[in-house]
Amino acid sequence: MSEYREGNLERPQREPIPWKDAEFWDEDALNTELERVFDICHTCRRCVSLCQSFPVLFDLVDESPTMELDGVDKADFPKVAEQCFMCDLCAETKCPYLPPHEFAVDFPHLMLRAKAVGFRKGQSKWRDRLITSTDRVFGFVGTPGIAQTANAVNGVGVLRKALNAAAGIHPEAPLPKFHSNSFKKRQKDIVGVEDEARSAGRTTGKVALYTTCYGNWNEPELGEDLAKVLNRNGIAMKVLTGERCCGMPKFELGDLAAVERLKDANIPVLLEAIEEGWDIMAPIPSCVLMFKQELPLMFPEDADVQKVAEHIFDPFEYFALRHKEGMFDTDFERPLGKVAYHAACHQRVQNIGQKTREILSLIPDTEITLIERCSGHDGTYAIKSETHAHAVKIARPVVNRVKQADAEHYGSDCPMAGRMIEHGIDGEQRAEHPITMLRVAYGL
Ligand code: SF4
Ligand code: SF4
Repeated sequence: MSEYREGNLERPQREPIPWKDAEFWDEDALNTELERVFDICHTCRRCVSLCQSFPVLFDLVDESPTMELDGVDKADFPKVAEQCFMCDLCAETKCPYLPPHEFAVDFPHLMLRAKAVGFRKGQSKWRDRLITSTDRVFGFVGTPGIAQTANAVNGVGVLRKALNAAAGIHPEAPLPKFHSNSFKKRQKDIVGVEDEARSAGRTTGKVALYTTCYGNWNEPELGEDLAKVLNRNGIAMKVLTGERCCGMPKFELGDLAAVERLKDANIPVLLEAIEEGWDIMAPIPSCVLMFKQELPLMFPEDADVQKVAEHIFDPFEYFALRHKEGMFDTDFERPLGKVAYHAACHQRVQNIGQKTREILSLIPDTEITLIERCSGHDGTYAIKSETHAHAVKIARPVVNRVKQADAEHYGSDCPMAGRMIEHGIDGEQRAEHPITMLRVAYGL
């Protein structure tokens, strides 16, 4: 838990999300809760620098006739939730009023409720419903021919302006590159020898990779690097098939019925692998967080969801667990020199500690500058026309820290955050995922 938190001596807890209860969807009850929590935040104000939600809230209060919450028109409450990209940082790193504190503030999950109520009322945009349908969109754009066209459109100013006018995708937003030769096409066989895998602590030494939509279609090299690093450490790896998007984009949109449909599709696939002795790993922190925290809080009675939560790992959490048991290869061949490392928000809020920094620090002659601020990418926030400028402003301190570090390598646990930083730097040097840095240090 963060050094920022103070004043609450009991371990803070995230409570289950009561989205199956009628009261969750009652607009009057929601407004009463928003008013209660907003008033606490207005008095506190410690989250003002985290994102745009809090400045929007405080401006509403400060510009109201009474300069208190009772002067704010309730019709303006959704403006606060619109700016929330569910990074969880306010709850997990700042707020002293999380349960069991009597104030019981869980700001992100209250924003989720506001988004969900708005979504059910039909207030979402078609663009947002489309770009959060990652299985469908990524699968389509990733097909041969279309991928090349989409990548070409990305670089043509006039076409990007047309995309902005037609769909509200900001013309300067960094859009991911698509690879029709996806990771799953490249990697079909099990890596390593399954029967030789050795368990260590909570880890079985056998990893079933949840590739993730982005990892499959946009950065297949990341999965290839991960396979090499796992193999070097004697960890067998197979690629899961039949799984769908983790549901995080739909969660951020407030489409909870879609989250449930994706959960129903994914959990049996993951569970089958777990029951065969495989651990689950995903190279994107948001997807790990979805299975580790958000789904268990949405489905607290579902034993299968809870079981998956116990067996899914961030890659560096996995390496750190095995290192503790003397099962991580520290025989590196190349120093990395200076590394500017951005700790992704959705990894930080997993409360696993700074495992990426811990593992990278094992590489000799490697000096790490840790950056713990939001990169501004935040799912779809950076690409939407109406929020892109805020995203760039949020990213600026991170970009400046990376520039100041003058490092040989820079990157983030979240590859999308890495690309956002790269976009801000606007130079020759490309962001590298810490997994890629490990592969380089091993000389693989
Ligand atoms: S969850 Fe993140 S984006 Fe949402 S209000 Fe908290 S800090 Fe802001
Ligand atoms: S979420 Fe908590 S820490 Fe942040 S402004 Fe509100 S009360 Fe304060």
